[in-house]
Amino acid sequence: MHRGNTMNSRQQEKLTGLLARPVHWQCRLDRYTSFAIGGPADAVVKVESRLELQALLVFLLDEQIPWRVIGRGTNLLVRDEGFAGVVLLLDGEFKTVDRPSNQNVGSVIVRAGAGCSLRQLAYRCMEWGYSGVEFACGIPGTLGGAMIMNAGAWGSDMSAIVAGVVLMTADGEKRFDRRELDFSYRCWHGFAAHLGCAVVAEVELALQNGDPDMIRQQCEALQDRRKKMQRCTYPNAGSFFKNPANDSAGRLIDASGLKGLTIGGAMISAHHGNFLVNKGGATAEDVVRLMHVVRAKVKKDSGVDLEPEVHFI
Ligand SMILES: Cc1cc2nc3c(=O)[nH]c(=O)nc-3n(C[C@H](O)[C@H](O)[C@H](O)COP(=O)(O)OP(=O)(O)OC[C@H]3O[C@@H](n4cnc5c(N)ncnc54)[C@H](O)[C@@H]3O)c2cc1C
Repeated sequence: MHRGNTMNSRQQEKLTGLLARPVHWQCRLDRYTSFAIGGPADAVVKVESRLELQALLVFLLDEQIPWRVIGRGTNLLVRDEGFAGVVLLLDGEFKTVDRPSNQNVGSVIVRAGAGCSLRQLAYRCMEWGYSGVEFACGIPGTLGGAMIMNAGAWGSDMSAIVAGVVLMTADGEKRFDRRELDFSYRCWHGFAAHLGCAVVAEVELALQNGDPDMIRQQCEALQDRRKKMQRCTYPNAGSFFKNPANDSAGRLIDASGLKGLTIGGAMISAHHGNFLVNKGGATAEDVVRLMHVVRAKVKKDSGVDLEPEVHFI
């Protein structure tokens, strides 16, 4: 589906001049999402430093150009028409994890760029003997995405380990302490007020000193359990719906006999009721239609209104 670039040539030239790396114009977003679905963005840019990001955010605000950050796109459904604006990918200094120089007995604060992957973060912490991130080692995606989603597993989530966050806007950067951040299940509520104007640039994590071998064993055990539970070969975005209180979306979908249901290229995984998958050539519209069918049937059968966990662009 082709949609013309909504940026004029002056804006395109200015954007190019602000960045060290080439801009990808009319860039399809399916390659940036784990669903492998999504039409083009006007531009996709890799941002290397806070300085570059700051200038970019000022430009985008001045020109009233919509923008959005994509981490690894593992919790995203991008519309078939794509995104009329600029997609930001955090690279360079946003991917670093700093080893703390001062350690209090028992605890430590680790600072990491929002663009680093949870896998890389968990690996670094394992190497250094810092415990707390083990639950996250099998969750795909970036630290920034994990903050927005309050990603979690095995009874823990990001809210349990975050000590502070640095947000960047066109006005500059600002640190928020954990006490100022309000999270709930798979949601950082407070971020809604910043959507479209702030980027999570850095995250501070409060971790415990531990034994690297024990941490490694714990990570491996959790990864093994994950592999057994999430046997899914088709592209997907993990759990599509949030679990309702005291129940599981997968169980409800299974109870409604929906596993395997297919619309176009989108299918409910035969292994996991809460995984909507792209079994080949699925459009975002296929997925959305399937989502509506699931919600209506589960509501009729169980009275539960399933809420999507996946974000939409
Ligand atoms: C196979 C599979 C298994 C999964 N298992 C789990 C699991 O066990 N637990 C769990 O919680 N999730 C799970 N997920 C979902 C997903 O991996 C997490 O939600 C993850 O934290 C998303 O990170 P991301 O970088 O891919 O974010 P994206 O999908 O790229 O983005 C998610 C949202 O955050 C915004 N965003 C991303 N980065 C920034 C930033 N730096 N600043 C501002 N906004 C930003 C995006 O605009 C979007 O709104 C799974 C997904 C898959 C595919």
